[in-house]
Amino acid sequence: MFSKSQMIRIAVLLFSLLLGSLIKPLRADEGMWLPVLLKQLNEPRMQAMGLKLKAEDIYSINKSSLKDAVVQFGRGCTGEIVSNQGLLITNHHCGYGQIQQHSSLENDYLKKGFWAKSHQEELPNAGLTVTFIIRMEDVSKQIMEGFDTVLTEASREQLVASRSLDLVRQAIDGTHYEAVVRPMYQGNAYYLFVMEVFRDIRLVGAPPASVGNYGGDTDNWSWPRHTGDFSVFRIYAGKDNKPADYSKDNVPFKPRHFFPVNTSGLKENDFTMVYGFPGRTNEYLSSYAVEQIVKHDNPLKVSLRAKRLEVMKPSMDANREVFIKYASKYSSVSNYHKKWAGETKGLLAADAIGKKQQFEAEFIRRIGADARFKTFDALLPKIKALHDTLSRFQPEADLMTEGVLTVEVIKLAQNLKELIEMKGAVFAEKMKTEQAQGWIKLLSSFKKDYYAPIDRQIMKNMLEVYMRQSVVKALPENLKQIAGNTDAIHISAVVDYMFETSILDNPEVLLGAIAMADSTLPGRLQTDPLAQCALFYNDYYRRVPGKEVQRLQTALAGLGRQYIEAQRLVFTERPFYPDANFTLRLAYGKAEGYSPSATVHYPWYTDAEGILEKYAGGNPDYELDSILAVKIRSKDFGAYADKSGKLRTCFIASNHTTGGNSGSPVLNGKGELVGVNFDRNWEGTMSDIFYDINQVRNISVDIRYVLFLIDKVAGAGHLVREMKLVR
Ligand code: GLU
Repeated sequence: MFSKSQMIRIAVLLFSLLLGSLIKPLRADEGMWLPVLLKQLNEPRMQAMGLKLKAEDIYSINKSSLKDAVVQFGRGCTGEIVSNQGLLITNHHCGYGQIQQHSSLENDYLKKGFWAKSHQEELPNAGLTVTFIIRMEDVSKQIMEGFDTVLTEASREQLVASRSLDLVRQAIDGTHYEAVVRPMYQGNAYYLFVMEVFRDIRLVGAPPASVGNYGGDTDNWSWPRHTGDFSVFRIYAGKDNKPADYSKDNVPFKPRHFFPVNTSGLKENDFTMVYGFPGRTNEYLSSYAVEQIVKHDNPLKVSLRAKRLEVMKPSMDANREVFIKYASKYSSVSNYHKKWAGETKGLLAADAIGKKQQFEAEFIRRIGADARFKTFDALLPKIKALHDTLSRFQPEADLMTEGVLTVEVIKLAQNLKELIEMKGAVFAEKMKTEQAQGWIKLLSSFKKDYYAPIDRQIMKNMLEVYMRQSVVKALPENLKQIAGNTDAIHISAVVDYMFETSILDNPEVLLGAIAMADSTLPGRLQTDPLAQCALFYNDYYRRVPGKEVQRLQTALAGLGRQYIEAQRLVFTERPFYPDANFTLRLAYGKAEGYSPSATVHYPWYTDAEGILEKYAGGNPDYELDSILAVKIRSKDFGAYADKSGKLRTCFIASNHTTGGNSGSPVLNGKGELVGVNFDRNWEGTMSDIFYDINQVRNISVDIRYVLFLIDKVAGAGHLVREMKLVR
């Protein structure tokens, strides 16, 4: 029996435990979940956190559901449908390539923004697609039947490929759909995705880059943020509402679902979810892999990218035409340059290697204690041995893929390889084929965005780094000859010589020769020093470091698959979600700030006054749009202000996202659109490899800021009226 005072103490303890569980806010969950498994794995948890819907409302094949308003935009982003006329919102940085393609000195849409006043003015984008998921299905049984007998990686791959092909054929037979089978958990499960792919996607509008990319490199991957990172497109379909190639007779697509737009916004700690197509994560890597990334891979790649950016920036700043040509290239190089730097920093700060080692120690302890797990004994030692070898080859490969092979003429030569190596006699015949049309197209778009002085300097930098850091130091014969066969090769002079004598860096000449079916062209390219050097490096990469890294990566992938399966069997107490692989996923969390250090706390949202404040600091990355400035100064926010009369710009939440989630809808508990996801915070860029709920936040632009910019700054209120606004 307990004494009275003991009883009181127990009562107090129980009460405080109960209270604790009531008042301690529910922690958001790490994970990018497969929509088809939400009912089974996540529904109760999500509802406890504030979801007002059922799993069935988020993903269903029997009725329209939220998934029908979520699309993969292009190959690497997400978008959401916001009207019954196929109107689509994604990020400014996702539409950047298209905006850049339509821009010129006369129509500088990057600088001034673009808004179509009618459907007729919307701009088509060759090659751009938008993909809906019709359904997904677990096909692990069909794909992996008989896989428990030992198979080599190669025969396993072959079986997966041929069985996938059969399943894809069956799935799309008699339909206009496409389908694909994707591995989950590194190949411990397989899912079939049936998709509807639209091909006529038109640009409706985009704010000027000073708004859509406000803060530029300075603010990228960081919080607090004030970026209006959105652009607007429209999906067009044939008269039957099915995908069609571009035609002026196409009509706006009628979607199965579109998101209502909520204009009252979120409150702190409100439930949110992000629905989209996250690209790549590697959450189940060994400590050896993380160590290689932190100590070797990332630092090398970051330094190589810095050397390219260093060359582009001054030329772009000096000449607007060059700026337009290189805007999209620059931002894609700088984006991951900064991301990898942040990732390395975050992994070190979180002691990810140490924590992975602890996890591995526990793994070893558990498998040692259970006879069923005997077969896992050799896994980690084998992984370690492979990483020891890989860490010697990976830098050689990276010095190529992130270095020498990024030179634009070197890439061009690879794409023209067949032309370069052709016999003069067959040239005239070839000129009549479709392949020649392909070369003309390729060279025309190369010409549009090429500026040889930048490329020449990048080639110098990349070759210099390569000759300094590579162990192999592979050099083409012709380059050695140009340099006079000395050991002390003067890269800069050799590259100058190559560019001065080459025609490869002159697309005009190449196009002219093709147009005239000039049969001397292949011969000239066969003695062209730059073309020969380019072909050498492409070939060398494929034969040596590329091949070796590929071999080791295949072996590691096989072990990785076994390791993740082992983790799932050994750590049954924790849920496992498959790594991101550009398939449709749902992440959920809460609107919440974070503390990057003991003395700093970041609130969960920003407002428009911050735009003026950042601008006042004088950093050129904070460029102020003049109309926007007037509206902010006069607090002319219309219906888009919050209750206190302020205009909210961006917010953060604890949703687990990655690249590919750019442009994803951020939804409230009722499935209404409250924001557009566009980034992560600096401390959280490591989350592709190591997730820490206290530090990782996704960054979204508040949908009210988007509406305000469309309606009150761009004067395109008709688009807002096309949407369904709810409060
Ligand atoms: N801003 C990121 C990018 O441009 C996308 C979002 C993320 O990775 O969290 O790749």
